Amino acid sequence: MQYFTFYELEYSEAAISAGIKNAPNPDQERNLRLLVEFVLDPARELLGLPIIVTSGFRNPKVNALVGGVKNSQHMLGEAADITAGSKTNNRELFYIIEEQGNFDQLIACNDYEFLHVSYALNKTNRKEALFKTKKKKTATKPKIKKSLMLAFLLLAGTICHAQQFAPADTIFDFDLYRSCYSYQQASPSYVVYRLYQPKAVVKRDNLRFIEMPGFPHFDYKGTPYDRGHLCPAADCAASLAEMGMTFYYVNALPQHYRLNRGAWKRYENVVRNAAQLDSLLVICGGANWGEVEDLVPGLCWKIVYSMTDTIPIMSLSFTNCSEPVVSECDTLRSLFPYYKMLAIWKGGNQ
Ligand SMILES: [Zn+2]
Repeated sequence: MQYFTFYELEYSEAAISAGIKNAPNPDQERNLRLLVEFVLDPARELLGLPIIVTSGFRNPKVNALVGGVKNSQHMLGEAADITAGSKTNNRELFYIIEEQGNFDQLIACNDYEFLHVSYALNKTNRKEALFKTKKKKTATKPKIKKSLMLAFLLLAGTICHAQQFAPADTIFDFDLYRSCYSYQQASPSYVVYRLYQPKAVVKRDNLRFIEMPGFPHFDYKGTPYDRGHLCPAADCAASLAEMGMTFYYVNALPQHYRLNRGAWKRYENVVRNAAQLDSLLVICGGANWGEVEDLVPGLCWKIVYSMTDTIPIMSLSFTNCSEPVVSECDTLRSLFPYYKMLAIWKGGNQ
């Protein structure tokens, strides 16, 4: 138990004001410990923000007092209600826990006002991720497209600074994606790909990035920057040949490792999940070049477009630094038609 104490997992204001003792027995305490060690601690670590437990263990009296369901896992010490301070943070926390995949039930309550999460020792964990609203008590399967729209609404209003979108000099057409390379940046300006129900068959063992002769790239050695895939390897995992195609420097940007392994990766997962239900067009790249360092983008960005609904469902910018900030970006949204035309409809090598 790194980030959580039994005190906060057992604390109940309702119990205190009603004068009820709320102490777990050894079995229940063991369950609380497992919940922390398998779910809460790893999520806290990945999120990088404090998580507040609003309700952990409840004995039957306390559970009845707060209106918990009859068979609530809170009574076994298997569940906690948690919040990371805002709906936006809770949404990110939801995806972190879902992605870890080590839980019994995960519920986004009242549009992400808080999350209910449980872990069970004595039965198979169901890995059931649900959304629950106040009005209806019935839980539904996650509708990722809806939640993306929600994210958009929550983040709307945040406007990025004016960005320098450098043009592309050369377009590489791979079967799986198109890379628009710029000599000035020695990197792709952006990459575009379509995504629909990607299959994960192979793992990315031993694959190394390959240079395109005549197309220089950033020298990554001894820097905090990862070779950040733009078209993700995991979305091209039907075969090793396919995946190998994503390991070209013209498909990578120097991304701070904390962005590449943090928020950028998490949103790749969000997009991958969304692509199970919808055919998507993804365009991503860098902007504000040289702001922090030569040949390094100050921002990375991603636009996701629903081919079914023919609207952009996500347009996010990520600051490329040790503490990446993700925000909805109106500039990107307005530039979308330009990218779409350039990337898809113009066609052919230039
Ligand atoms: Zn709960």
